[in-house]
Amino acid sequence: MFCMAAQSLGYRIAVLDPASDGPAASVADRHIHADYLDHAGLARLAALVAAATTEFENVPAAALEFLSRTARVTPAAASVAIAQDRISEKTFLSGHGFAVAPYAVLRSAEEAARADARLCPGIVKSARFGYDGKGQVRVASADDVAAAYERMGGVACVLERFVDLACEVSVIVARNESGATATWPVAENRHRDGILDVTIAPARVAPELAERARSSATAVAGALDYRGVLCVELFVTRDGTLLVNEIAPRPHNSGHYTIDACATSQFEQQARVLAGLPLGDPRQHTPAVMVNLLGDAWFADRGAKAPRDPDWSRVLAHPLAKLHLYGKHDPRRGRKMGHVTCLGTTLAEALETARAVKHALVIPGVDELA
Ligand code: AMP
Repeated sequence: MFCMAAQSLGYRIAVLDPASDGPAASVADRHIHADYLDHAGLARLAALVAAATTEFENVPAAALEFLSRTARVTPAAASVAIAQDRISEKTFLSGHGFAVAPYAVLRSAEEAARADARLCPGIVKSARFGYDGKGQVRVASADDVAAAYERMGGVACVLERFVDLACEVSVIVARNESGATATWPVAENRHRDGILDVTIAPARVAPELAERARSSATAVAGALDYRGVLCVELFVTRDGTLLVNEIAPRPHNSGHYTIDACATSQFEQQARVLAGLPLGDPRQHTPAVMVNLLGDAWFADRGAKAPRDPDWSRVLAHPLAKLHLYGKHDPRRGRKMGHVTCLGTTLAEALETARAVKHALVIPGVDELA
């Protein structure tokens, strides 16, 4: 999606991807088939590009540092490094005065065995390489923490208290070289099995809370001296407190709706920052609900063993549903294969479109979209 947005602005794109058939490589002008830390591959990329970005935070920060010797790199390796590790992320956020869920760092079996009972019930989360609810184990009491830590393989973790959530929201913010910022409307996110299921935009929260969320996100970007597109995911507690859950140093799944519903998409904005162009207007022109398409939709026939393409004509026939497929070849359960942006003149109509799309593709949770 980033490649396509940058190409629309007239740029040519080279992608370094260790996979031979990745979605970005298939639309890019050039594909360098190499590992993220392969010096020869990085040197070939550096020779081709004036600017570089990442759309996956687990790309090693060292790869971005290498490219920054010859190219403009946004976000900076230092920002990516903070977001790659939950411990450095939480230390950074709380050190800059942003509220986060109460937590403790677990670096050894002894620390896990002595876990603070006040953080339970809670969740043990691996510090690195966790996403979409992976690398997380729930614990009911302090007695369970040692076993959960062991299940993680003894890697550094955080224990986070389970928060009573009213809802989850995210704010996507863009910040350029001169420190100018733009935020999209606050988006409301619903998860299923730890994976984003739908994003409702704008979020159905009080305007005062939405304003607080946007200014928090802008402040996080400022504290990082961030360049590029950043997603700040926030928990809204039942008493209206905002806690920063995590930050993603890239365009985010909860901002995919911006392609169809906003004057400037998050991907176009990323290309603008990278190219040193003025920021685009993020305003939303159409209410939208983004429905994620996981590989499960390819197994919608009860008992199906082999995946089968869903009947896309049922989505395409809907006048307000915009289908986006990423061109991934292997539809596994839980794997993000695409999304549908469901539009409406009002948010109620967009929700109705989303219900129709979920129903057509046999995606669970139709009734939860009220
Ligand atoms: P994460 O990967 O940390 O974003 O966690 C995935 C999802 O698990 C979140 O979007 C929440 O729905 C849920 N979750 C994570 N941490 C907490 C928490 N401390 N309290 C309540 N729910 C949580």
